[in-house]
Order: sequence, then C-alpha cells, then structure tokens
Amino acid sequence: MELKDKLIETLKSKIARKIWEMWFSTFKVESATDDLVVFSVGNLFIKDWINQRYAKQFVETIREVSGKDIPYQIKDEIVQESEPRQNVPLVRKRPVLLSEFNKEYTFESFVVGPFNEEGYDGAIEIAKNPGKMNPFFLYGGVGLGKTHLLNAIANYVLENSPDLHVMYMTAEKFMNDLIVAIKNGSTIEFRKSIREKLDILMIDDIQILEGKDGIQSELFHTLNHFIDNQRQIVLCSDRTPTQLSKFQPRLVSRLQMGLMVKVDNPDVQTKFEIAKTFASKNRIPLDDESIREIVEASDNIRTIKGIINKIAFKNVKSAVDKSNISKIVREVSGVEIKNFQGKKVIEKEIFFNALAMIFDVRPAEIDAKLRTAKLSNARQIGMFFARKYLGKTFAEIGEWFGRDHSSVVYACKKVEESVRVGNGIIKKEIIQLQEILKIRNEESAI
Ligand code: ADP
Ligand code: MG
Repeated sequence: MELKDKLIETLKSKIARKIWEMWFSTFKVESATDDLVVFSVGNLFIKDWINQRYAKQFVETIREVSGKDIPYQIKDEIVQESEPRQNVPLVRKRPVLLSEFNKEYTFESFVVGPFNEEGYDGAIEIAKNPGKMNPFFLYGGVGLGKTHLLNAIANYVLENSPDLHVMYMTAEKFMNDLIVAIKNGSTIEFRKSIREKLDILMIDDIQILEGKDGIQSELFHTLNHFIDNQRQIVLCSDRTPTQLSKFQPRLVSRLQMGLMVKVDNPDVQTKFEIAKTFASKNRIPLDDESIREIVEASDNIRTIKGIINKIAFKNVKSAVDKSNISKIVREVSGVEIKNFQGKKVIEKEIFFNALAMIFDVRPAEIDAKLRTAKLSNARQIGMFFARKYLGKTFAEIGEWFGRDHSSVVYACKKVEESVRVGNGIIKKEIIQLQEILKIRNEESAI
C-alpha cells in the first residue's frame, strides 16, 4: 500500500466513526514525501476544527506509518473570496432588533459536554464568522438546547457585531407570515423583509413544515438566496434532513450541504452537573440526594430546568422539604421516581474495613494520599462499589475517599468498563465485598 493510503487507513482506524463521517468526509492526503505530508479538507473551518483536536494524532500516525517525523500541512481546498459587503457603516452602531431574543440563552449560560460540544462549537463559529458554513443545521431531540443555541448566536452577534442584522423565527411564524402575505397579495414584501435586510436568518423547528409543499418551496428559495449571497442561514429540527419524510428532495439535499450537527442527550453525570448549576443559579440549596432524584426523573434538560424552576417558585411561599421536592418532581416529569431507599445504609468505617480485608491494605490508607498500585485498585473498585451497590452520589464518594469529583467519575467508569468486558478478578472482588457487607439484592448479581 502506498504511504498515502496507509495514512488514511490508520487515521480512520483511530478516529471515532461518527466524527470521521462528520468532519473527515472531505479529508484527503494530497501528497506524502519524505519531507512533507500535505492533507487537504473542504474549507477553513473544518481545517481549524480538525487541527485543534487531531494535531497530535496526525504527528503520531505519520511517525507510525512512515517511521519518521515528517512535518505536515493542511490545505483548505475551496478558497472563497467573500464579496465585500455594501453599505457597511464605519461607526459601530446600536444593534437593530428585528425579532425577540431570549436574553438568558447565551453561550455563557450553556453547559457544554461531549454530548453537545459539536453543536456549541458550530454555533460559536457561526456567530463569529457568519456566512461561511451554509446552511448550519442543528438537530436533536426536544429539550436538548437547540433553541438556546440559536438565541446564543443572536445574543453574541448583537453584542459583538452590532452592524449585522439578525432574525430568529420559528418555522411556524415563517409559515403564518407567508400565508398572510399570500392572502394580502404582499409576498414580494414578505420576501424583501427576509432576504434583503438580513445577514443572519434563523428558523427553528422546521420539522413542522413536513407535508407543507408551498411553504417548503419558499424555504428552498430563501435558502438559496442566503447561500448564494454568503449570508448565514441557520435551521433547527428535531430530526435529520433525511428523516424529514415529507420534505422535497431538493430541500433535503440543500440542508445536507452545509454543516449538520447533532445535539445529544447528556449522560447522567452531566445531567447531575447541569441540575446543580441550575439550582445554585436559583439559589436553591438542594442536596445531592434531591438533585439525583430530579435527574433520574428527567429525560432531557428542559425537564430538569422545569423542575428546578418550580421548586424555586414554590420556595417563595413555603419552605420546600424533601417530600415536597418529590411531589414536584413527579408533577413536572410525570414519572415515578426510582430511589435508593431500598439500599442498605453502610457506614464508611465498615465499608473501608471490608475493602481493607479484600485488598490487603490498611483502612486508614484508603482515603490518604499514598499511591501504590494496590491502593489505587482498592480505591477505584471501592468507589465503583459505593456508587453501584450503596447508592452513594459522586459527591459523597469523593468525600469518603478524599478524591475530587473527576477522579471518582473516572474510577467508576473504568471499573464499570472492566466489569463489562468480563474482568474475572474484579468480579470476584465485588462478590466478596457483597458477601462481607451482606448485600443481597437482585442488582447485586453481576
Ligand atoms: P430544544 O430547542 O432543543 O427543544 P431548548 O433550547 O428549548 O431545547 O432547551 C430547553 C431548556 O433547557 C431551555 O431552558 C435551555 O436553556 C435549557 N438547556 C438545554 N440545554 C442546555 C445546556 N446545555 N446548558 C444550559 N441550559 C440548557
Ligand atoms: Mg426548540
């Protein structure tokens, strides 16, 4: 195999498939000699994104495949000369508000994690360099922050580029305004108001246009207008373009042309962090137990926020106690909460004695600083066990073991993965712990 092909093969094997499909679809090895490797990608934005995250992988892969340290370069293929904007005022002026924005929905108030960072990164890029990645298409389930990100783009632009004209509208408003315009014979004005004034147009929840053929045609021409004029268009939907079943194929293919990004549902731990952030912003002193209750009943961020807002609201009138919180959780989420009340309460001292016995260490060493392989092993399995079988929260485990939050999360994940792939020694140790602590419930059989 040629060096070029080997490089691609090896890189592909190292990078997650989803990332590869999304970001590396235009990636090529232009040339590879002993002096220089030249990669190329579709545009500058992709180049920056890839280079920020994968520079190390590139260096290592080149070394691995060629046996040498050859420098590399990334070219962005399509060099687009953006047309100079006309009528750009020299003096910064106050932004013109063309639609309502939610001032609270900013990039700063958006919690970022692996589940939504692509959406966040994409939105920031759009806000900083509107018109480059067109259209920007954001999709994902309800309550996962799409509308928040759209408003964050608007708020950012109003703050940093007040000369630009930004409009946010729901697809429903787009549809209603168009229908009214058709009735009044003023479609030309409708088009003008959208096409001529705007630098950035954002249309939310376009899935509602499924089956609405006439409106879709208008949207199609609007899209083309923005793309041709290098003005930014941003769209949101709860599904991918191809899943928009009653959409015109020409519209679907336009939507796929630009940057498509998914926002996912956060994992439980991140939801926990988000809930904590919301609670502290609302100045509600919720303990970890209550936060966990809220998180377990919520399948998206909107529900978490809804529950906390309601607790904040009730708190004005009466002191919120635990049973009140449970009631609110049930009311807002409509879900019966699972709880850990069935779990046996085990004291730290008893637990550490059990760990000490099994791992052949001294109890006092477990929450101390000393690091030996034996102790790390005892700690990590202990943390996992406390989480899974004692129903402890990450914060409580951190306190017990004198470790910070991220070490606890890391340990729990690591041990869980070992158990999952069938590490027999760990399984045996966990069963021994269960026996010593006399924990016997249906969940304990691993
Ligand atoms: P969507 O439009 O995807 O249905 P929204 O943007 O309306 O979801 O989000 C629902 C609620 O959850 C909003 O109040 C929003 O501020 C909040 N929210 C969603 N994701 C986040 C996040 N990552 N950080 C902070 N708040 C979030
Ligand atoms: Mg929304």
